[in-house]
Amino acid sequence: MQADAHETETEQKQKTGSEAGEVDISVVIPSYNEKDSIPELTGQLTNVLDGMQLRWEVWYIDDGSGDGSAEALRALHAKDPRFKMIRFRRNYGKSAALAVGFEQAQGRYVITMDADLQDDPSEIPALVAKLDEGFDMVSGWKKKRYDPISKTIPSKFFNFVTGKLSGIDIHDFNCGLKAYRGEVVKTVNLYGEMHRYIPVLAKMAGFTVTEMVVQHHPRKYGSTKFGLSRFFKGFLDLLTVMFTSRYTQRPLHVFGSLGGIMFLAGFLINAWMTVEWLMGYPVGNRPMLLLGILLMLLGIQLISTGLLAEMVTKSGASARDYSVREMLK
Ligand code: UDP
Ligand code: MG
Repeated sequence: MQADAHETETEQKQKTGSEAGEVDISVVIPSYNEKDSIPELTGQLTNVLDGMQLRWEVWYIDDGSGDGSAEALRALHAKDPRFKMIRFRRNYGKSAALAVGFEQAQGRYVITMDADLQDDPSEIPALVAKLDEGFDMVSGWKKKRYDPISKTIPSKFFNFVTGKLSGIDIHDFNCGLKAYRGEVVKTVNLYGEMHRYIPVLAKMAGFTVTEMVVQHHPRKYGSTKFGLSRFFKGFLDLLTVMFTSRYTQRPLHVFGSLGGIMFLAGFLINAWMTVEWLMGYPVGNRPMLLLGILLMLLGIQLISTGLLAEMVTKSGASARDYSVREMLK
């Protein structure tokens, strides 16, 4: 009798999976006008996740869809509360959707995937196994990709540059299908369109990142939500990531060194001009004089920018900016 009661209680917990630490695996799915794909995806996810014998939850993040996704997701939650939903009031973008999903995710393992059936849920067990090998993050690699060529070619270039600049040796930074240890998603700070750079952010925070080849499918319903502008914006974001993750805590190091070099070069040039002038040569019409002045002014500007940045940093800096792996006390 008692055993029975206990069992139903665990069963109940397994079903809702809502208590902290009661979930092994959380799947986070940003979804913007993907209503047609959701039923199929939901069925596949249920099969795969139930097959893993782990306690699971799925977070659909409805990013301001206007196609009736919300009603469908509400009905789904009523039927199986392991499927949860967050609905934005308007469309905020994929990074925002991932960020709120990451905040809610309770699992030791967190999976992200797209809602459009291009990512295959059957890859989840292999991704989790890869995490169990000791990696903090596994990024999917759409080796055989089913997207128009207007997307795949720029994407190759994008991945090449990002890999070179960040020093991360993976082929596909922006794959929707990824797996993380819980700590990773609680640490990285996603905003703007930074979802393209989660592997970079994770690595900068000291996590280990690897990749795994995953199945990719053509889009079945609906259309892509990103145009070509993604590549221009993407590179600006890369600049931000590289700069902020390296120099946020010490902006004067980058501005100051650059400014210092310029100032010094300008100073030397003008010192030489002064010597020539003292020796009686006319220097008023020499381009070198202008160059010297320009370099000194730019140098001073850069150094002041660095000092201002230091002031901004100082007022916001705290121990929370550092990713702690372990603490014994
Ligand atoms: N997405 C989103 N908000 C947006 C744009 C996209 O949540 O503003 C979701 C979208 O519904 C999909 C995933 O992000 O689940 C990837 O988008 P998409 O398939 O359009 O990108 P692509 O595969 O073309 O790179
Ligand atoms: Mg897609």
